[in-house]
Amino acid sequence: MKILVIEDEKKIASFVRKGLEAQGFVVDVCHRGDEGFALATSRPYDALVLDIMLPGRDGLSVLRGLRERRLALPVILLTARGELNERLEGLNLGADDYLTKPFYIEELAARLHAVTRRASGAAQSILAAGDLTLNLLTREAKRGERRFELTPREFSLLEHLLRSPGRVLTRAQICERVWDSHFDSGTNLVEVYVQRLRKKVDAPGETRLIETVRGVGYRITPPS
Ligand code: CA
Repeated sequence: MKILVIEDEKKIASFVRKGLEAQGFVVDVCHRGDEGFALATSRPYDALVLDIMLPGRDGLSVLRGLRERRLALPVILLTARGELNERLEGLNLGADDYLTKPFYIEELAARLHAVTRRASGAAQSILAAGDLTLNLLTREAKRGERRFELTPREFSLLEHLLRSPGRVLTRAQICERVWDSHFDSGTNLVEVYVQRLRKKVDAPGETRLIETVRGVGYRITPPS
């Protein structure tokens, strides 16, 4: 499990890093809010441990930014005694839990396990690759803040591509899963649908996410 810790107090940051690493977590530490936000939005983490008072950008602003981007990354706030308003605001902004300093590392580890377990249940309702998100409950498709409409068939096609990121789906597999039947392999139905979907997903100027693997099929690879 990979955790990002954004904490400017070097002693606490190093205590958290060592403690979590001893518990088997992989830990990245960052001492500034702005740099932490850049990391959290560009690399895959399973959870974020976030201090509130930070140089560069404060923790609540980092949290707000993540939620505005619809990033479902579980967040545990580290708060100081007395930061009641900040703690409440953080929970309202979508923090998953908080710990008041000082705390035991075992407690942080237990809460990280709890929030990531919860998130893996919830995450199934939102599929994502980079800034592309597909909400299976609201049927909403987005690239960043750009919303686009999909027909039910296009939605299903995109859902299947997103369910196995990086893996190539052959035309036959797509036919089977999206149309629930076998088609004559001579038909270009899949190509037509992929082209239509691609026009909606990959707008001019955006990173192209739907990739054609010549002679094999298609895949979506999350940008690294
Ligand atoms: Ca601080």
